[in-house]
Order: sequence, then C-alpha cells, then structure tokens
Amino acid sequence: TLTLEGVRKSFGSLDVLKGIDVALEDGGFLVLLGPSGCGKSTLLGIIAGLEEATGGDIRIGARRVNEVHPKDRNIAMVFQSYALYPTMSVERNIGFGLEMRGVPASERTAAVKRAAELLQVDHLLDRKPAQLSGGQRQRIAMGRAIVREPELFLFDEPLSNLDAKLRVEMRTEIKRLHERLGSTIVYVTHDQVEAMTLGTKVAVMRGGTIQQLAAPREIYDRPVNMFVASFIGSPA
Ligand code: ATP
Ligand code: MG
Repeated sequence: TLTLEGVRKSFGSLDVLKGIDVALEDGGFLVLLGPSGCGKSTLLGIIAGLEEATGGDIRIGARRVNEVHPKDRNIAMVFQSYALYPTMSVERNIGFGLEMRGVPASERTAAVKRAAELLQVDHLLDRKPAQLSGGQRQRIAMGRAIVREPELFLFDEPLSNLDAKLRVEMRTEIKRLHERLGSTIVYVTHDQVEAMTLGTKVAVMRGGTIQQLAAPREIYDRPVNMFVASFIGSPA
C-alpha cells in the first residue's frame, strides 16, 4: 500500500502542496488529474523520493520512502521526455538499469526480451533510438521501467508528446500492462479522458490540494464541487 499523509511542499513562500492524503492499495492505478501548475509533478517527485517534502509522511508498505536508501528504492519513473541514450541499441537502453546494478549479461538478455515482448518491441532490439517512431520510443522508455520489476510505477504525462492516434493506442497498452503485471501505478495527466479510462482511482487536484479522490465513475456521477464537475466535464 502507498500511503500519503498530510504531505506538504513549499518552495520558499510558495505553498505548492497543502496537505495531501492518499491511500492506494497494491495493484491499484491512481491517476493524478489537474490543471497545469496544481502540483502533480511535484507530488510524483516526492513519492519517488527525488524531492523532499516539507511535511507529512510517505510510506510504501510499512517503510517511509525517505528512510530507504535510493539504491534500495524499487520505484521506476517514466517521464514525458523519455530521453533514451542515442548511441545505445534499444536492447542496451532497456537493460541499462540492470547493467548498472551488475546483473549478468545472460540474465539481462532474458529480462530485456520478456519486457520487449510484453511491449511488442522485440523486433526492434538492434535499432538505435533515432530509428524509431515516437510511440516506439515511448514503449522503450516503459521497457526500461518494467525490466526493473518495480514495486511502484510512476508516470508523468508519458503520452503528452504523442499524436492523438498514438495516445489512444498507448493508453490501451498501459492498461494492458497494468492488468498483466498487476503493478501499482501512480499516473499524472491533465487529460480527463486518459484519467477516466485508466484509473481505478482518480485524484482531482487544484492548487496543491486534492478536491476529490474516488473511482472514476463516482467522480463523474457525483462530483463534490463545481471545480471537479467542470474539470471532469460531468453533466452535474
Ligand atoms: P504541469 O501540468 O504544467 O506539468 P504540475 O501540476 O505538474 O503542472 P508542478 O510542476 O508540480 O505542476 O508545479 C507546481 C507549482 O510549483 C508551480 O507553480 C511551479 O511553478 C512550482 N514549482 C515547481 N517546482 C519548483 C521549484 N523547483 N522551485 C520553485 N517553484 C517550483
Ligand atoms: Mg507536471
């Protein structure tokens, strides 16, 4: 279980997160949805342990995230700008995290192959990133995350660089991945449709607060206030 309690973050006098509470069960898919600047990426960075909270508690299971050494944190993050290593083959790009951890080559090859098959890019392993389409690159970036078998996946608007058609395709892919791997996911987007189709839970954020945290259907049918209703575009 991922638990956030009263998480706050300030940059100087700017309060960016004003007390965030979340409980996400193992295997759950939480979408953080909200307008630009509401604090989504900041919150994700704090969950990843890449940024320190000003206050509050973040736990994965029984462990406090900031008390776990970065190298023992089993969290994988996929960013919007998926920055693959241009000179490395797709195969090495996917396996690089394992290489850095000293996983032997034979084991690495097998793990990369499994991840590549799951993402349907196993025919691209010998290519360089420049020889791939945007959607293929995004799959490779996800492959890099999957191969590490993280206990928690964090996605920060991973599809926003893709055209509309690819976005829909990748949405399906991510959903399938979640079903196949049973992994716990926190996924940031400002796209309402993406949020409603992917999430088992959606947190609608505004100005550093969570306005409503519920199943997509619940939010759509029973938005708690005008902001949620208008942001979701529900008929309420
Ligand atoms: P977007 O949808 O545009 O990516 P977001 O919801 O991810 O927005 P954040 O990146 O979390 O928003 O930023 C939230 C607020 O915190 C913004 O007002 C931003 O300017 C501010 N902020 C973020 N990082 C810093 C920083 N390092 N120093 C100062 N202010 C920051
Ligand atoms: Mg952001």
